[in-house]
Amino acid sequence: VPSPTGAGTDAALEVLRRVFGYDAFRGDQRAVVDHVVAGGDALVLMPTGGGKSLCYQVPALVREGVGVVVSPLIALMQDQVDALRALGVRAGFLNSSQDREARREVEQAFLSGDLDLLYVAPESLGGGSSPTVRLLERGRIALFAIDEAHCVAQWGHDFRPDYLTLSMLHERWPDVPRVALTATATSATHAEIASRLKLEDARHFVASFDRPNIQYRIAPKNEPRKQLLDLLRTEHPGDAGIVYCLSRASVDKTAEFLVRSGIPALPYHAGLDQGTRATNQSRFLREDGLVMVATIAFGMGIDKPDVRFVAHLDLPKSVEGYYQETGRAGRDGLPSTAWLAYGLQDVVQQRKMIDSSEGDLAHRRGLAAHLDAMLALCETVECRRVRLLAYFGQDSGPCGNCDTCLTPPESWDGTIPAQKLLSTVLRLQRERGQSFGAGQSIDILLGRRTEKVAQHAHDELTTFGIGTDLSESQWRGVVRALLAQGLLTVQGEYGTLVLNEASGTVLRRERTVLMRREPERPARSSGRSPR
Ligand code: ADP
Ligand code: ZN
Repeated sequence: VPSPTGAGTDAALEVLRRVFGYDAFRGDQRAVVDHVVAGGDALVLMPTGGGKSLCYQVPALVREGVGVVVSPLIALMQDQVDALRALGVRAGFLNSSQDREARREVEQAFLSGDLDLLYVAPESLGGGSSPTVRLLERGRIALFAIDEAHCVAQWGHDFRPDYLTLSMLHERWPDVPRVALTATATSATHAEIASRLKLEDARHFVASFDRPNIQYRIAPKNEPRKQLLDLLRTEHPGDAGIVYCLSRASVDKTAEFLVRSGIPALPYHAGLDQGTRATNQSRFLREDGLVMVATIAFGMGIDKPDVRFVAHLDLPKSVEGYYQETGRAGRDGLPSTAWLAYGLQDVVQQRKMIDSSEGDLAHRRGLAAHLDAMLALCETVECRRVRLLAYFGQDSGPCGNCDTCLTPPESWDGTIPAQKLLSTVLRLQRERGQSFGAGQSIDILLGRRTEKVAQHAHDELTTFGIGTDLSESQWRGVVRALLAQGLLTVQGEYGTLVLNEASGTVLRRERTVLMRREPERPARSSGRSPR
């Protein structure tokens, strides 16, 4: 085994230049490679596009034996292996999509020492006595790479139960170095990866998570498809990009809408048959200027350098998910846009999903905490990037390349409107024993005599009509801000508003409530029509 300095280091650089055709390592790559070549375990955290692959590919070529790469991306294994073979690397894969013959060939190459890298699916290592494990025991292994290692985190957004069995690698092959890699970066996730994969002694390599070329923007959702179209037409004509929607139905509708509007767009979600998904994915990768409209089922492992924008038409479930998805923009380092539209309805809908989810109370609390952090990012008056990086435990200063830096939102003292709203909710709760969604409280504050107001005699409440100084959309902003700051709670199937312990501090005037002042928009032509 080459030493980490001297000959070993030269061997790594030689491989980088000769095989991969690059002049120099980037960022943490060199340190990771040296550590793993010398036989150490590593936990590598690098943003998408940071260059994680070379962190295990180079050591696999320098060390004796085969580098075994555990990857959940079965659909991409063929592409990855083809790309390596094109560079002259002896690579193969084993997964369930393969026929017997192809599998036999790869097994043979492994046993006769004719492989440098072997990609395997996590499920094929399950149980500890699978055919793949028995095969691996008969050959010489240079290292194990565990790609997308956050899939082992149970509350994460990509949890794969098969990953839990990977702790056995350490027991079976205590002397083989392991390198776990991920682009998901909260310290809670690192800790969970380290403990579940028995990587407590691994060295951590944490790259900066900043992606300075991505401009982060978060806008209140008004007419989402029209807002999206404006963005594409004015700032990204002819560009490739990804539009994320929460549901399959809205993926289909949005893709149709874009096509009708003259923008080449393709849908992608788990409800499409496999052939269509594969075709759309490869068209997106190979053709220029296509827009992929997708659920979050799309994107992991996709290496398309010139994605110029990632747009979210619905609120992501967590900051980690948001960061991961937006990170697919601008991998080539050129200016790119991450744009998100979110509205009160998103919060209501996600709450509903959390309240009706299968998991136990702790699980639901975890999901709620993720949503709260996402909301706080949306409602912040600070630099988005500062907030985003702080979430991943990294300090930074105002970036000059996000919406709050470029057009600083005024913050305004919304304490009085907050009190008006909370006291409306309080009166409904106390005097009537009722709870309603945000719309009803806003109707009451605006003094609207709707059918529902009349039916419940809500015009007799003392807060009826005391909020006519704000518009409906400003009131929605007040509700969003209260939710984001944890001063109000939304719950249940109907997204009803209920007070929480912190609400009292506002009602008792013990604190002030600062809010983002959103620029006033021109009158709407459609959408939810105010009376
Ligand atoms: P990740 O897996 O972290 O998302 P990749 O390993 O796919 O990132 O690398 C992203 C891109 O950067 C790839 O196109 C890769 O070829 C390129 N790259 C990685 N390391 C280097 C390097 N040292 N020099 C030049 N290009 C690099
Ligand atoms: Zn900023």
